[in-house]
Amino acid sequence: MTTSVRPPIVRRGLEALRAYRDVGHEAAIDLSDNTCRFGVPPAAENVLRAFTTGRFAPYPSAANDALRTALGSVLGLDPEGIVTGCGSDDVLDAALRAFGEPGQRIAFPAPTFVMLGHFATANGLVPVPVPPRADGAIDLDALLATGADHVYLCSPNNPTGETLPAGALERVLEATTGLVILDEAYIEFAGGSEVARAATHGRLLVARTLSKAHALAGLRVGYGIATPTMVNAIERARGPYRVSALSEAIAIAVVTRDAEWVREHVAQANAMRDRFTSALRSLGFAPRSSAANFVLLPTRDALALERALREDGIAVRVFRELPGVGDALRITVAPWDVLARVLAVLERTVRRERRP
Ligand SMILES: *Cc1c(COP(=O)(O)O)cnc(C)c1O
Repeated sequence: MTTSVRPPIVRRGLEALRAYRDVGHEAAIDLSDNTCRFGVPPAAENVLRAFTTGRFAPYPSAANDALRTALGSVLGLDPEGIVTGCGSDDVLDAALRAFGEPGQRIAFPAPTFVMLGHFATANGLVPVPVPPRADGAIDLDALLATGADHVYLCSPNNPTGETLPAGALERVLEATTGLVILDEAYIEFAGGSEVARAATHGRLLVARTLSKAHALAGLRVGYGIATPTMVNAIERARGPYRVSALSEAIAIAVVTRDAEWVREHVAQANAMRDRFTSALRSLGFAPRSSAANFVLLPTRDALALERALREDGIAVRVFRELPGVGDALRITVAPWDVLARVLAVLERTVRRERRP
């Protein structure tokens, strides 16, 4: 069917963006998105079995007061200083809309979480990526020299896995006047959360998620910690009902009853990450030292290695020309039998590729 109707004009800035698509979901083993490969927390199973369809017809909680109370008691924080969202993506998006005037700039050390630039642009902000110094460290001087209105930091950082150097957050908070976001999506693997500072600072938002250490990415539950005043503004930008009734019920059970399971998962993932990192070094690779549940592997053979892994049913994330890194693979940590398979494919492929 042909039509002469012209579609409405897409808002300025949006035409440069591409809709996000799954990378590795069709693979037998998906190591592309840093989600949990170590099972499901037991409280999630229990809640799912007890959940009744009678809860499908009514709306869920508008602002997830019960989940905020549960998170508040686990974190030792005021629930009024906690904002939930459909994943922490939703919290980041709403915060940019709440505090970012269209045309303002948001600076961040590059490379970092790709969705941040996307949400910034979608909300009319200008993303300002700041490449690392020659020694690979984040360039705080250059970041502050941008004079950007807002700043985004991610620690441990996706995709490098590195944590912020000591004192970096303080320097950014002192030198800026706008919103400072600290993304702690992987903080459970590293420790050293800044939620207590965010609860009182007044310009700092810490974004966290149940998608990684808590193994609930499919349920889409994230949250942010800030002052109650900031939380109220983010809620206005976000809108109500962002977490489904089933997701909220499971999230509450997991954060209150499965702390031990999460600790165990984190310990296993960290042990596998360190073993995998050493094994990669033994093969002659130069992986980044990661404090998260994934490893960034800079390699000029990234495309060939990704293809070889995919032929073996394993999906990983390929990055081309990352600032200060070059081409690289980002590989989610998994149980050792899976990582051993990855190592075998990498070793075989590199030997073939590098043959004179
Ligand atoms: C995975 C991830 C998130 C988002 O997770 P949600 O599933 O939307 O909660 C946020 N930030 C970073 C850096 C991530 O890697």
